Amino acid sequence: MGQEITLAQFRRWLLVYADRIAAEEAYLTELDAAIGDADHGANMHRGMSKVRDRLADPSLQAGDISALLRIVAMTLISSVGGAAGPLYGAFFLRAAQDSAQAHAGDAVTLERLAAMFRSGLEGVQQRGKAQLNDKTMIDALQPAVEALEAAAENGATVSEALQAARAAAEKGARHTIAIQANKGRASYLGARSIGHQDPGATSVLFLIEAAATALGQEAPVNQPATRA
Ligand code: ADP
Ligand code: MG
Repeated sequence: MGQEITLAQFRRWLLVYADRIAAEEAYLTELDAAIGDADHGANMHRGMSKVRDRLADPSLQAGDISALLRIVAMTLISSVGGAAGPLYGAFFLRAAQDSAQAHAGDAVTLERLAAMFRSGLEGVQQRGKAQLNDKTMIDALQPAVEALEAAAENGATVSEALQAARAAAEKGARHTIAIQANKGRASYLGARSIGHQDPGATSVLFLIEAAATALGQEAPVNQPATRA
């Protein structure tokens, strides 16, 4: 059995993501201003700030990975008004359910992580009914999940697998510039949505980048970080 990803790493993933969303709020708002209603940055920032508060609350400490992801899902569903809140909620809820069914407890293998992300993707698809190339979150999430699965099958390390997922998410998010929106608010623009990167695909890219940072880290936390 390969290397395991721990509950502490999942917690760190969410905190790294909350930081990234805070740093990129204006950028996500700018993207949504071009093809939506300019609230994706504010929506995600509100939701992830609430997640950070919940994770800091000592009375709400999650006992295992599934409980942690369920708290994240419920917090996003209840605090994010836009389309993205329930969709992110579906991702985390389904990932939580998958890890609970697998009795994952407080550590998971790369194979289980890939299965959790696959379940999360299915949750987003079931709720939003979007397909690849509809110019949505799916365009970053699906390639990332597929890359993670392929890497796991090929015996990659956790770090390698998450780097592959990150690269795939980035390519997918960039590809949304070239295509027309068929789902969500941006679809009202028809062909005028072409030429702009999708905000939700971009926030998903940040989620996968945060995963590569926090879940893909093989060195102990106190070891100096190296940069490629
Ligand atoms: P709203 O569209 O309600 O203002 P946000 O601005 O927070 O919500 O989120 C917009 C993002 O949600 C879009 O950029 C897109 O990626 C994502 N999105 C919208 N509808 C769907 C859907 N049906 N399936 C998947 N993602 C969607
Ligand atoms: Mg919006």
